Amino acid sequence: MSADRNESRGHGLAPLRTATVDLDAFRRNVRTLAELVSPAETMIAVKADAYGHGMVPIARAALEAGASSLAVLDIPAALALRAAGVTAPLFAWLHGPSSDFAAAAAADVDLGVSALWQLEAIVAARGGSRPRVHLKVDTGLSRNGATVEQWPGLVRRALQAHRAGEVVLHAAWSHLADASPEDDEVALGRFHAALEVAAGEGADFPLLHLAASSAGMRMPAARFGLVRFGIAAYGISPFDDATGADLGLVPVMTVQGAVSSVKRVPAGTGVSYGFAYRTEGETTLALVPLGYADGVPRVAGPSASMSIHGKRHRIAGRVAMDQVVLDVGEADVRVGDIVTMFGPGEKGEPTAEEWAAWAKTIGDEIVARVGPRVQRTYRDDRP
Ligand SMILES: *Cc1c(COP(=O)(O)O)cnc(C)c1O
Repeated sequence: MSADRNESRGHGLAPLRTATVDLDAFRRNVRTLAELVSPAETMIAVKADAYGHGMVPIARAALEAGASSLAVLDIPAALALRAAGVTAPLFAWLHGPSSDFAAAAAADVDLGVSALWQLEAIVAARGGSRPRVHLKVDTGLSRNGATVEQWPGLVRRALQAHRAGEVVLHAAWSHLADASPEDDEVALGRFHAALEVAAGEGADFPLLHLAASSAGMRMPAARFGLVRFGIAAYGISPFDDATGADLGLVPVMTVQGAVSSVKRVPAGTGVSYGFAYRTEGETTLALVPLGYADGVPRVAGPSASMSIHGKRHRIAGRVAMDQVVLDVGEADVRVGDIVTMFGPGEKGEPTAEEWAAWAKTIGDEIVARVGPRVQRTYRDDRP
């Protein structure tokens, strides 16, 4: 073993922190999901900077792999994609009184409409264009979407605006609670009931959509004309009883840091804030420049590991804002060595799903919270 472990192994040019996004794996996942639900179309959710993966490269890769449209959450994200040259249909559905419906109309963004005030604001702001609207009914999630009481009035006003050439009444949609298969069946029944009410008002929607990843994969009756896939496309399972790998999906993101300090310490050494950890015997500590500001959940500290050269090492003591310490024992770890927080799980490293279990959360939150200091890089093997 080297006498001075702080001697860098020579890959000193490795960035401090990276999130490597495997676009080939992402495209494979999108193709797998699109085949599963075909002939329903595949919309890919790229909200929250594509679940932390980077919106523009992910949006392009999704379209290359056969997605027909992208779900962006809000109008600013849609405008950012238009500015990046994305011409595919974009769907934005979370609005406030200050939302720029004029810009959305000018950029040909499909708009989810949950309330009359939104429809009136769109009609007022549309200029010379005729925005496509997707009317949302609340089928039990209790977020946005018209209530059963509001739904007939929303449908009537939208039909009027459609007939007046002010909007295109394109779709009816809702979102499921993923509470249980039984609860989702109840919601599906409510969706059908809302469609009957709308038909009674004279509405004939060209498109219907209800399912996200979970129902898209396991509830064929919820697929209708389009499935809005998010987390599954990123290679993470939407289910508690199956991993992404079990579902034939490949995790897309790998988060790594480069060891920035190594020291040999005696037994009984306190490590990190509060000395929540003390070394059992003489050992080696490796400092990793990833902390909770980078998305390492502080609560996961006592259970979590990261891997170096394919071997896992536990986090010693508290996760700090900018760093964690690993107790690497007798392993030959040097400054500059690459530490993997999570990845596909194919080389001994933890997965985002394991981090989710350690932090008592879901894999979605693990990837979406990877912070802005972590430099995104893209792996793309296409010729
Ligand atoms: C986030 C979101 C999706 C995608 O959900 P996943 O569970 O990640 O597949 C679909 N539809 C709506 C309305 C969403 O907010």
